Amino acid sequence: MTEWLLLLLPMAAASGWWVARYARPGRSGQGAIPDAAFLRGLNYLLDQRPDKAIDVFLRLAEVDGETVEIHLALGSLFRRRGEVERAIRIHQNLVARPGLEREQRGFALYELAQDYVRAGLFDRAESLLLELAEIEPQGRRALHALIDIYQQERDWGKALGMAERLERITGRPMAGEIAQYRCELAEECLRAGATQEAEAHLRAAQEVHPECVRATMLQARIALARGDAQAALALCRRVAERGPQFIPDVLPQLLDALHRLTGVDTQAELRRLYRAQPGPALAAALADAIGRDQGVAAAVAFLSHHLRAHADLAALERLLELQGTATVGGAAPEQTALQVIRRLRARQAAYHCDHCGFVARGLHWQCPSCKHWATIKATQPEAMVAVGDGEPAPPSPATVAPAVGQTPAAASQSLPWRPK
Ligand SMILES: [Zn+2]
Repeated sequence: MTEWLLLLLPMAAASGWWVARYARPGRSGQGAIPDAAFLRGLNYLLDQRPDKAIDVFLRLAEVDGETVEIHLALGSLFRRRGEVERAIRIHQNLVARPGLEREQRGFALYELAQDYVRAGLFDRAESLLLELAEIEPQGRRALHALIDIYQQERDWGKALGMAERLERITGRPMAGEIAQYRCELAEECLRAGATQEAEAHLRAAQEVHPECVRATMLQARIALARGDAQAALALCRRVAERGPQFIPDVLPQLLDALHRLTGVDTQAELRRLYRAQPGPALAAALADAIGRDQGVAAAVAFLSHHLRAHADLAALERLLELQGTATVGGAAPEQTALQVIRRLRARQAAYHCDHCGFVARGLHWQCPSCKHWATIKATQPEAMVAVGDGEPAPPSPATVAPAVGQTPAAASQSLPWRPK
């Protein structure tokens, strides 16, 4: 039996009822479950064959209609198969049973709450989970489930309260999540014009999680709205230091601040950031700055150099545009190439999740797929590996773009153009 227990551990995490059954053998006093058949049902689950598992458990339920574990298994399977009403009926019948052990009732209530969530009946799920949150061993799971509900409902105040409570109970730090909820609340305040309240949320976010880049970005936005470009610039620089992956997202604010300030060398500022994060957005902004300061030829030289190190479609598009403007009307092959590049770029996902690989067109602070916070970042172009005397090699699996925040060695070398 021990090997089975180890095999089934991952599933146990998903189905607490299983732990209850096997953690204390003989506990239920309802030992009429034919174990071989029960394990066969679990085996089907492990093999990702839920329909077969349901057949086994339904037959078991006919033989032994009283056994709680079988009904819990069936309810959970029906829910996973999308038959939520059937799952709800099974779990409601279980909860209504007289003489149910307290622990079993807790499991059944938790499963019923999950059914309600799946059916979109958040109010019912919430009231069940609030009740369960007071009772161990379901209390922590209930708090996690409540946080999930509040996140789905975008009720950030309640999500914040539950996260703080969970942190107190478990001792597991939730600073990252708490700071994100504060930022969500700050954004709500900003939309309502309550700037001071927003600032208080952002200070609280940074108190609990000093590395929170999003709070700094929002502070930069507030500083710009107030007309304090110097403060906004300092905040944008802090974002670049603490989260270079977010430079593309703070770039519009940074450029706005630089535009408003006199005596700051925009090109030098962008060049410094480009060395840290030579991504498409910075390359484009730097090419623009070079073009303004030194003319189109210098901008073309910079982009050509950038493209030798990075397979960057946006930079290639910019380069062809610049070359098109340099020749009257643009040559026909260049126009065709531009059209192809624009078509490819329109399909390109500009952002991806570090945690689950979800791709997105824009920045989401919470990944819509894995629900992790601050894991979606701008995708860096694939690095080109130079062979021979600087000839770029075709991309290969070994030349996958470096992890966000890392700089390909080629890109940090000295650049061929000279700032004025
Ligand atoms: Zn994700």
